[in-house]
Order: sequence, then structure tokens, then C-alpha cells
Amino acid sequence: MSSTGSDDSYFLLVDCNSFYASCERVFQPALRKRPLVVLSNNDGCLIALTPEARRLGLELGDPYFKKQDVIEKNNVAVRSSNYTLYGDMSRRVRSTLKQFSPHLETYSIDEMFLRLTGSPHRDLTQYGHHIVQTVKKCTGIPVSVAIAPTKTLCKVAMERAKIEGQEDVQNTANWKDPEAVLATLPVEDVWGIGSAYARTCRQAGIKTALDLRNCSSRWARNNLTVTGLRRKRELQGISCIPLEPGSAPKKRITCSRMFGEKITEFQDLREAVLTYTRHACKRLRDDEQCAATVQVFIRTDRFVEEKKYSSITLQGLSQPTDSTHVIARKACRCLEEIYRPHYRYHKAGVILSELVPRDKIQRSLTKAETSPPDEKMMHVFDEINKKFGKNSLQLLGEGLEKNWHMRRNHLSPAFTTRWQQLPIAHTV
Ligand SMILES: [Mg+2]
Repeated sequence: MSSTGSDDSYFLLVDCNSFYASCERVFQPALRKRPLVVLSNNDGCLIALTPEARRLGLELGDPYFKKQDVIEKNNVAVRSSNYTLYGDMSRRVRSTLKQFSPHLETYSIDEMFLRLTGSPHRDLTQYGHHIVQTVKKCTGIPVSVAIAPTKTLCKVAMERAKIEGQEDVQNTANWKDPEAVLATLPVEDVWGIGSAYARTCRQAGIKTALDLRNCSSRWARNNLTVTGLRRKRELQGISCIPLEPGSAPKKRITCSRMFGEKITEFQDLREAVLTYTRHACKRLRDDEQCAATVQVFIRTDRFVEEKKYSSITLQGLSQPTDSTHVIARKACRCLEEIYRPHYRYHKAGVILSELVPRDKIQRSLTKAETSPPDEKMMHVFDEINKKFGKNSLQLLGEGLEKNWHMRRNHLSPAFTTRWQQLPIAHTV
């Protein structure tokens, strides 16, 4: 690569291979020899596949019901998505990686950036292999590592490794012809170049990552703003996108699901909306934020020939809050406003927005909907659910039957987060 931002600073991108499928395999060794697919919420589509499943012609996004014959014929293992398990395995991978560098950014559930400083003479490729082995040993999850002087080049290297099915460690320093690598990557596949920027690039004859790297800085600045200019520089090996340790506070929190069965009754919808509100409020408190606006949406199935309806509305709060019961009251009001009878509803959701950090709230003297005792109550509420299981305390309006629950017919146990579901080791 041409030049590096600083000679002793390198980025590593660690990507978990077929992450959801790998999590399922860790505690079920019998699955290791079988092709495996993981389904989206409600067992709708294929969202993760092992390479063996891909070789059978299965693809991401395929509707499950359409592929059932191929799946059964080839003895493909099927699992419903188990986000509790995946979230916990992701946490384990992260904490293993922290021993290699305190500078860590969680980019997604299965991708983490690390920044290495110092020790410029260390054999980085070998170090990458050491990381792959350590993560595998400590968590059971197979990972790939890309090493480069910038985050964008890490992404290029990872992309290349995936397409060409290469080594699990890619170090851009070992590329014999870096220009040839960049020339094979279409400009729209450069990390951070969205479809609008890609269109602008193509109109100007910039078709590949190499073209973008070589375009004039002035052109990039004028046509792609500073975002595009940064990508160009990063492709040159000049680091401009720093590591973002700790996740940035969220701007909104959404909790929505498709129902296992379509529902028409207001009462059932209300139960669902209250359940989603409770989950969203828990995430709000975990982030130490409060919401000033609550939105609720409901809709029928877009892909089925039947009467269609969808609507969304919002309610503001006089003061931002994280109290489940206060937000739940507003959510119910939203639902009352948009609900229409005689439709078969397929999905509902709750969105909390206009989020403010809890310690920055301006307290209102006159119209407070919440009070300090509320905070204590919510704390107790969360503690009880932490101790006895996350659904031990619920809102009364959530109902007990929950006929609308998501379909998850192939769910694996919560191996790592529930005492009752720990894997059992057999001794002979
Ligand atoms: Mg991955």
C-alpha cells in the first residue's frame, strides 16, 4: 500500500464465520457434519447458511416453505433464530478479543474492529492466526481476520477473502498487487459508498475501488462530500475513520414482530403492543436513556391477496421518561387511534424516539407524568426480571395466552443464559 497513517498502528477486522449457524453448532456437535440453515423471525426466510447448505443451492432470503423439499431431501438441519444465544456468544467473542487490544469497536453482532498500536515489527499475519485459534478455543466460534492500515481496507480484504474463499487471515501487507485487488472490487461494494454515491461515481467513470482511490481529492470532496473523500483516503492507506469504542447512543428503539397467526381482535393487538412496549422500555433503561415520543404501527400482510391496511401514529410525552407504565399508556392510545376492525393484522411495532440521556432531562415542575418513585419501581421491576427470567413480571394487559406469539418451531435451547437449558455432558 502506498502510505500508512502511522507506521505502528494497524486495524484488525474480526468477522465470525456463518455466525448464527456457528453458534448453533457450538453446543450441538451433531450439527457439525450436517448442512444447517437458520430462519428469520416467524420461521419465514433463510437468514444464515453454512457453506454445505449453500452448495445445495440454498440462498440467503429464500422463503423457508419454498425450500422445504430440498431441505428435507438433503437432511439439512433447521433452526429458528435464537437471538439470546447469538447475543451472548457475541459477547464472549468480544471479551476474548479484549485480551489482544483494549481498543475494540463492536461493528455488528458478528464483526469487531481492533486497533493495534506499538510493536511495529511483530509478524501480524501470525498474530492474526493466533487470534483465530484463541477465539475458536475460548468460544468455539470460527472467525476470519483482516489486517490493514485502515478500516476501509480491512473491509476490502474481508470481502476478498469471502468471495475467493481464501485463508482465514488476510493481511494487506502481503498482497503482491494491491491495485489488482482494488480493481476487482466494484465501487458500490466499497464500505460506506451507498447506492446514491455509487451512481455519482459511475456517471463520472469511477467503476471500481481502484478508480475511487485514484480520483482527485477535489472531485471526491465536491461530489461525494467528506464521507467519500475519507473513503478515498482510506483506500490509499491513510487512516481517517477512527475506531468508535463503546456504541454510540441509539437515536430510536424499535421493537416489532410478525405474528405467528394473523390477528383481528383489538384485545390481541393490544397485548402484543404492550409486550413490545415493555421490551423496548427495558432496552431504553439499559441504555440509560429516556424517550419523549412513542409511535405505534400496525399492518396487514403486504404479500397476500387480502384487504390491506397499515397505519402509524405517535404520542408525545410531557417529559422524557423510561417508565414502562407511562409509555404503555401512550402506546395504547396510539393503538386505539389507528386500529380498524375486520382486518387480518400481520405485524405491529413500537418505536421510541426523541431519546435523551437520563441524566440530561429537564424536570418539569407542573406536568410530570413520572416521579422519582417511578425510577425505583422500574429498578425493582428490572431486578426481578433479571433474577427470575425476563418475563417474570409483565404488564397485566399483556395477557397470559399470547396466541399471537412468533412461530419458532425449531428453536435451540438458550445454552448459555438459562440454568435449565445448560448443555449436558454425557460421561461414559
Ligand atoms: Mg460474519
